[in-house]
Amino acid sequence: MQYRKLGKTGLEVSALAQGCMRFDPEKPELAAQIIDDAIAAGVNYFETTRGYIGGKCQHLTAPGLKGRSRGLIVSGKAGVNAETTADSYREEIDLQMQILGVDYLEFFQVGWFSLDKMELLTRKGGALDALDKAREEGIIGHIGFTGHDKPENFTRCIETGIFDSVTLPYNMLNRAYAPTIRRAGELGVGVIAMCPVAGGMLAAPSSRLQQLIPGGAETTADAALRFVLSNPNVSTACSGMNTLSMLHENLETVDNFHGADAADLRRMDTILDDFQSLGDAFCTLCGYCKDCPQGVDIPGNFKIFNMAKVYGLHDWARSRYAAMDKDKRADACVQCGECEPKCPNNLPIMSQLKEVAHTFG
Ligand code: SF4
Ligand code: SF4
Repeated sequence: MQYRKLGKTGLEVSALAQGCMRFDPEKPELAAQIIDDAIAAGVNYFETTRGYIGGKCQHLTAPGLKGRSRGLIVSGKAGVNAETTADSYREEIDLQMQILGVDYLEFFQVGWFSLDKMELLTRKGGALDALDKAREEGIIGHIGFTGHDKPENFTRCIETGIFDSVTLPYNMLNRAYAPTIRRAGELGVGVIAMCPVAGGMLAAPSSRLQQLIPGGAETTADAALRFVLSNPNVSTACSGMNTLSMLHENLETVDNFHGADAADLRRMDTILDDFQSLGDAFCTLCGYCKDCPQGVDIPGNFKIFNMAKVYGLHDWARSRYAAMDKDKRADACVQCGECEPKCPNNLPIMSQLKEVAHTFG
């Protein structure tokens, strides 16, 4: 296992981290086995929160941890809202530790965070007071945050100096947070990259994306993970692995990955920029053409088509199209023309929907 610096914390984090939010609630033994195997292979970061999997995420994680938290980086997470007080937040931290069966959390993340919640977090008697106190008492080690705010707002959050880490989505199909990741690197804030395989989308085959990686990649998931880890400011790639094969494939990728240089990363970014502009020329998914009187999901169809046409994710696109409600599919379009004047990109929506229907129908 490769280890990387987790910002300025002094911690060394495994390049592959286990997100515990996708375990099958019907298979608790499998969840425990995955955690066991992950720890045996050197994975030391486990991302959890009470709310995931219908409230069972930490219950499913606990048996695999077997009470271990020192030497591992176990992370809990809770959001803040208008009702949050230092006392209520501390109760939440204690409850999550109790469910996990541990007496220490190396990280606690302020979840679902955004810049406009900064006042809620930092006000006197608020959640930050609870986090600071828990850290002083040695209950938690470090404070992080995660959410889906705009990249520039995330950058401002890390510039406050409050946080030791940021957890954000980053993958071949979503590089919006790349500037935030760069700034985090400058400030010594650890970066936990979530969704490295884009919620499973990059598990589908795409020779185009595999060829993007210097020297090629065996699978698209392999390429996806290598891309994320090529960024030197990413501390770890956190994947919600919920099968043993997924875990072991990712472990193999990380073990065989020996880093990319800055020129490799620039080259990959340039090619992905070209792919993206190809997609933008087709449909920017703005949604202004909604709502079709027949119920056709115009951006939904175009998004699927983009993924096949631009990124070569043909199998994924075909299965997504097949899974769509019939009345939302491109072939339900009756060519009435009502949508076309609404499109700011002046796209020939009707003929392009015909192409989508022809490709996947
Ligand atoms: S042209 Fe097709 S997609 Fe557009 S509004 Fe008419 S039926 Fe809907
Ligand atoms: S208005 Fe045009 S660009 Fe926007 S979602 Fe519809 S087709 Fe795509």
